[in-house]
Amino acid sequence: MKALVKTKPGIGNVEIRDVVVPKTGDDQILIEVKAVGLCGTDIHIYYDEYKSNPPVTLGHEVAGIITEKGKNVKNFEIGSRVTTETYFQTCGECSMCRGGKPNLCPERMSIGSMVNGGMAKYIVVPAANVHALPANIDFVAGSLTEPLACVVHSVLDKTKVMPGDVAVVSGPGPIGLLASQVIKESGAYTVVIGVESDLKRLRLAEELGADQTIVANEKDPQEIINELTNGQGADVVCECAGIEASVQTCLKLVRRAGQYTQIGLAGRTVNFDIDQVIFKEICIRGGFASIPSSWTRALKLMEQGKVKTDPLVSHSMPITEWKKAFDLFKEKSGLKIVLTPAD
Ligand SMILES: [Zn+2]
Ligand SMILES: [Zn+2]
Repeated sequence: MKALVKTKPGIGNVEIRDVVVPKTGDDQILIEVKAVGLCGTDIHIYYDEYKSNPPVTLGHEVAGIITEKGKNVKNFEIGSRVTTETYFQTCGECSMCRGGKPNLCPERMSIGSMVNGGMAKYIVVPAANVHALPANIDFVAGSLTEPLACVVHSVLDKTKVMPGDVAVVSGPGPIGLLASQVIKESGAYTVVIGVESDLKRLRLAEELGADQTIVANEKDPQEIINELTNGQGADVVCECAGIEASVQTCLKLVRRAGQYTQIGLAGRTVNFDIDQVIFKEICIRGGFASIPSSWTRALKLMEQGKVKTDPLVSHSMPITEWKKAFDLFKEKSGLKIVLTPAD
């Protein structure tokens, strides 16, 4: 089968290769991949800015059909439509695993970086990681369960968003647009900030329920947030761009004793005025990937129509056109790009 593989360490070294269909172990499930999302992490792996274990098939945002199951697998049937969590392996013994934080296990091996991922016709995963897709969620929308689960973990597990809060999302990419929907559903007044090139994305943010959007180079976000909050600042800021200017804006916008949550991955060191953490007693948090309960909640949010993933998908193309997809991603001319495997 064809797979998109990071072939060796270094910048680039990504190509379509013919690889063998993986064997299904006793506790595993073989999924025929129908849609796999292209994620910032894949781009970071391309540039060697995110740890990977080449040669390895990319792709961790997977939706598909069960085509084979191991003899110990009881809860799933061949033909079921599913998505999968991304941890192929965690140690199960360390204090993080035992404390319900498998995302922080030092031995964690995730699909698409440390073990073969879903940018291929088939992927094998532990049955314990698999979730059925709700009937009203198609494969393309379903491939966004993973980014939504990460957003649920950062925004709902790690951050406390309350009705009546003024919450800022900076960076209206796919993650930001998922975060703004989750925040809106939590009852906060939701403000999404972008730059001039984000106009379309900001319009979409409004269509998806954001109360207000700001183009940062046209209006001063601080002025607007101050007006909204009697000069107090935002209760919650979620940085979703992973860009230094956005980090700095978020630091300015968060109120005294407010919450700052970092969701965007910068891939490099950014300048950060750490004294503000003292002066404003800001609570800074990050959410790394997701935990199993984030997936259950993400799927419910999708099933109930409270978070829409369909409108975020701008392109769907075969994995053989991966170069075009990566370019679209880098130029920001697409929004969410979903790949479909070839034979
Ligand atoms: Zn992802
Ligand atoms: Zn562990």
